[in-house]
Amino acid sequence: MRVEMEFLGSGTSSGIPTIGCDCWVCHSPNPRNKRLRSSILFRVGAGDDERRLLVDVTPDIRMQALRAGLTSVHGVLITHTHADHCHGLDDLRGLYWGGGRERLELFAYPESLEQLKRTFGYLFDDEYDYKGIARFNTHVFEHEAFVAAGITVTPIPVVHGNMRVAGFRIGDCAYITDTNEVPESSIARLKGVRVLILDALRRAPHPTHLSLGKALHIAEQAGVERVLFTHINHDLEHEQINAELPTWARLGYDRLRVAVEADGSIRVTEPAPSKEPPPVAF
Ligand SMILES: [Zn+2]
Ligand SMILES: [Zn+2]
Ligand SMILES: [Zn+2]
Repeated sequence: MRVEMEFLGSGTSSGIPTIGCDCWVCHSPNPRNKRLRSSILFRVGAGDDERRLLVDVTPDIRMQALRAGLTSVHGVLITHTHADHCHGLDDLRGLYWGGGRERLELFAYPESLEQLKRTFGYLFDDEYDYKGIARFNTHVFEHEAFVAAGITVTPIPVVHGNMRVAGFRIGDCAYITDTNEVPESSIARLKGVRVLILDALRRAPHPTHLSLGKALHIAEQAGVERVLFTHINHDLEHEQINAELPTWARLGYDRLRVAVEADGSIRVTEPAPSKEPPPVAF
């Protein structure tokens, strides 16, 4: 079974560039230093049988969907309810329409679903009579694997300050964002994973995120073949950091895709160059 992970965004909560910041990374012309808020798309299977599972719905989801050519999904997985991971929920209406107004299947921890219902009450209110919003079928999970759109998903619980966050494993691929600690039992759930996407905020330690060094250590413990880092802030310049990392570890970047193919090979697909027209000259 082919499993691909596409970076819809690889940035920390403020996105990079960050509003009002004068640092060299925020001003870098390198597109790999431009990071929308962290999210991925799992593409499982191929051709007409492809199943698309969106992980998190960032405030940037509109741009992320447009540039990925994404018009519909088969399910939405929520890691946790910090604003940078779910405040695009209203904009899912575009994917709801693109999916033929079939209710979107939404999967979250019970406490995450409760929080979403408090923040976006109208989206979950069947009495709310307005056709311009997305509609959802909601599902909660705990520790057991669950099935989303016919795909088996294994939750990987991790610690994020005083809350838990769900990582997700599908086949030999796994995605873990927003964590400062991956418990032993969750490292065990990564056994056999070949490609991992993992939180690595910056070099220095942080109370609710992994530092680059700590993230490398966890990937090593898990024994993955490749690790790509995400939720990156402006302390980490793409080319400089990649030159320092071991060959099996890299910073992720927006629109990069990495797949474990049906034949077992790992394929990395770089985004096509931007087709943006040159700026208008006055
Ligand atoms: Zn975050
Ligand atoms: Zn900056
Ligand atoms: Zn968070």
